[in-house]
Amino acid sequence: MTNYTDSIAAENVKISYEVKFTEPQAHYADIEMTVSGLAQNALDLKMPVWTPGSYLVREFAKNLESFGVEANGKTIPFVKTSKNTWHINTTNINSVKVKYRMYCFEISVRTAFIDVTHAFLSTSGMFLYPNGMLMHPSTIHITPYKNWDKVSTSLEMVNNDPFTRTAPNYDILFDSPIEVGNQDVFGFKAAGVDYEVAMYGGGNYDKERLKKDMAHVVELETAVFGENPNKHYTFIVHNYNRGGGGLEHLSSTVLGASRNSYNTESGYQNFLSLVAHEHFHLWNVKRLRPIALGPFDYDNENYTTDLWIAEGFTAYYDNMIVNRTKLYSTDNYLGVLAADINIVENSQGAKIQPLSQSSYDAWIKAYRPDENSANTTISYYNKGSVAAFLLDLEIISDSKTKYSLDDVMKYMYNEYYKTKKRGYTDAEFKQGLEKFAGKNLDSFYQKYVNGLDQIDYNKYLGYAGYKLTDEFANTNIPTLGIKTSTVAGVTKVIGVSRGTAGWIDGINVNDELKAIDDQPITDPKNLLGDKKVGDKVTVTVIRDGQTLNLPVTLLRNNDFKYKIESIDSPSETQLAVRKKWLIYNKNTPSI
Ligand SMILES: [Zn+2]
Repeated sequence: MTNYTDSIAAENVKISYEVKFTEPQAHYADIEMTVSGLAQNALDLKMPVWTPGSYLVREFAKNLESFGVEANGKTIPFVKTSKNTWHINTTNINSVKVKYRMYCFEISVRTAFIDVTHAFLSTSGMFLYPNGMLMHPSTIHITPYKNWDKVSTSLEMVNNDPFTRTAPNYDILFDSPIEVGNQDVFGFKAAGVDYEVAMYGGGNYDKERLKKDMAHVVELETAVFGENPNKHYTFIVHNYNRGGGGLEHLSSTVLGASRNSYNTESGYQNFLSLVAHEHFHLWNVKRLRPIALGPFDYDNENYTTDLWIAEGFTAYYDNMIVNRTKLYSTDNYLGVLAADINIVENSQGAKIQPLSQSSYDAWIKAYRPDENSANTTISYYNKGSVAAFLLDLEIISDSKTKYSLDDVMKYMYNEYYKTKKRGYTDAEFKQGLEKFAGKNLDSFYQKYVNGLDQIDYNKYLGYAGYKLTDEFANTNIPTLGIKTSTVAGVTKVIGVSRGTAGWIDGINVNDELKAIDDQPITDPKNLLGDKKVGDKVTVTVIRDGQTLNLPVTLLRNNDFKYKIESIDSPSETQLAVRKKWLIYNKNTPSI
């Protein structure tokens, strides 16, 4: 990691930012940065290229304009020395004022967005930092636009002024998004921590219900790790017509939600699961972390093979924690788990990309999907979650129900975050798992983490007296193996699945589907009508303006539709494992 230690010459430096919104309708923030106490001959200001938690180089500097520097009331020159570095000669200058504007118009949980209704400041993509001073504190003063009256962030206030905040260093600043506007704010206390929920965008949520259920999630997650390290924590929720996703931070999170989905059973369950996911990250990845993920290099990709633990285990726990709230049935949970298994087993990419490599290449593959991604990649969320479920059952069974994956998480948190105060290596996490499984996991890693072996689900489910059954096992339905999209009556191919009839006989992405056996396409959802496996058909497409007649031999749809069912007569041992796995029986936390 470069540039991490403060230079001695910088120890008296003070850094502050003024943020104003003179043209929110055009999506701009006006930022004035003051760096004083300079005793060096040069100052390099830098903008991170990525935001931790979202593994893609986003080039935030592309949104910066009108950069200018003043010293002693006069404009002074600067030189850009890289895509995200501004070099200022500060010989005989001890204070500079830097002005710049940021264009903020990308709606997501990890990018800044400003309009007349609110400002979401995703700090890593907005605030320049002086090179070599990442450990420096800074203060931020925000002048809200017109009638905006609230700031929601986990950054501490200065002098009890909600519009003035301070960060002890840049890792904290870049990990603390700021919401400014008229958001609906409410709070609750759980696990001894003050929680703030800031709802932007309205919605049909029931505050009292949310307070109770979110507090329950917080208590259950705190019980996994044994402590809640925050004093206060902020949930920033962006409600849109159709919203989703989340990004974790040390003491806050940003969630995307669909504003009118809170009153449906599946919508509410999804929201709670998202809450559980991002909040679980305050331990898993923000504190208990792969060694490559902190201190961060804000200039480059930060590679790790362990996102299947950081994200996959979190994805396993999000639904498991919702299961532990007992708001939904155990069958409901088994259905959610089976859905993860179906995603993995129906993914052609799962046969190509090992789980550890899916993590390592997140920067160029998971975050940069294209038309062939489904054939060549596997999500470290879905397969990582499946790996967590297998390991949980392995540990419960091998330890004769003494331990579960919870014990591994708690042990690793204490051992690496609290005691060693560093991230874990691949080998160290494996050792943590082995400690509680009481056995060597070389073969598990070889097969399922670093290899491409078919997962033996029934071995693991069998520990708890369950088995997988495939509802499609006895079907013989033909398919072309293509995905299509129909816009204004034009049906185009947007994906071709590896090994299917469409793949073998040469249907291409971007082909416009016109007819099958001379019958024009009228129902894109039912392309094959009553045709059978083995039938030879002619698929007429338009490719680059030319009509092609492709002979295609129809093949069976080989997708799976698994569900998890109990075996007929589970033994006492199996029932004990099942109970330890699914029925949360620690002292029910008080809420
Ligand atoms: Zn996550």
